[in-house]
Amino acid sequence: DAQSVGDDTVRLYAPAMRAELEERDSLLRDLSRGIESNEIKPFFQPQIDAKTGAVTGFEALVRWNHPKRGVLSPFHFLDLAEKEGFGETIGEIVLSKSLDALIKWEAAGFFVPEVGVNFSSDQLADNGIVDRIRREADAYSVAPERISIEVLETIMIENDDNDVVRNIKRLKENGFSIDLDDFGTGHASISNIRRFDVDRVKIDRSFVSGIDSDENLRKMTLAMVRMAQGLGIDCLAEGVETPGERAVLTQMGCTHLQGYGIGRPMAIHDTFTWLNQYRLFLRSQQKARA
Ligand code: C2E
Ligand code: MG
Ligand code: MG
Ligand code: MG
Repeated sequence: DAQSVGDDTVRLYAPAMRAELEERDSLLRDLSRGIESNEIKPFFQPQIDAKTGAVTGFEALVRWNHPKRGVLSPFHFLDLAEKEGFGETIGEIVLSKSLDALIKWEAAGFFVPEVGVNFSSDQLADNGIVDRIRREADAYSVAPERISIEVLETIMIENDDNDVVRNIKRLKENGFSIDLDDFGTGHASISNIRRFDVDRVKIDRSFVSGIDSDENLRKMTLAMVRMAQGLGIDCLAEGVETPGERAVLTQMGCTHLQGYGIGRPMAIHDTFTWLNQYRLFLRSQQKARA
């Protein structure tokens, strides 16, 4: 009967649930210490111009370099951190380290046009957010158009007319760029894209992975690329891993590429070596063509 099913469920799942709760607790206890000890830092993943191969930017992807657990990706701690009120602090760390990276690349002789920073809907719902980003950009003397605010496509559907919408509009008015992340998964309408004056759509990895051997993926992605072209906005393919995928996406008119096949997310100190090697690689390619 129902009662015994319930008992079985408790017996089967209680240990697993307890383990998960303990895990959560221990991460949470660690988090404020981790923030204090500078363990939260963005990694940076390159983005390139599909036609020329030139580096157009880096996306900042937060990591927690945990002393015992190693480098943790956002999947392992970001939801928890946001629920427990650390979202704003982590957001500020990622933004300031991203702007600092632009300055450091320039000082090392690499002009990187822009940096992409992910913002959650909670962050964007905070009415202080626009002024904080502006102040930060001022502090680092970085022009707002060099900061690309990445927002999930779903934000635009979930929020019709509220603080999130208003803040995204104000960011645009202040000259910041807007990238629509995970595009194709959230059913945003063309009118939404126009309304928010989006600068670029980032086609989700689920359309990109295996596109060179799947006719359906190719058709869906081509429709998204054509839409972007029709709206006169840029279009970046996420998660490009293989030369085959890269060729198809470039050929169909995707303007930008990002993925392990171009470069993995790296700690700031590794980006300099990567930029240097990538520059040599581009030059050798140009020579080979000449
Ligand atoms: P996203 O913004 O869509 O970032 C792309 C994710 O795909 C990243 O995962 C990246 O490491 C991964 N990726 C990039 N290229 C490839 C590839 O070729 N193959 C595969 N398999 N994966 C690839 P990551 O770093 O784990 O971040 C996951 C998500 O967490 C991000 O998705 C973003 O939504 C969120 N996130 C990351 N950093 C921040 C942050 O600072 N603030 C907020 N609010 N969210 C963040
Ligand atoms: Mg992103
Ligand atoms: Mg994405
Ligand atoms: Mg994604």
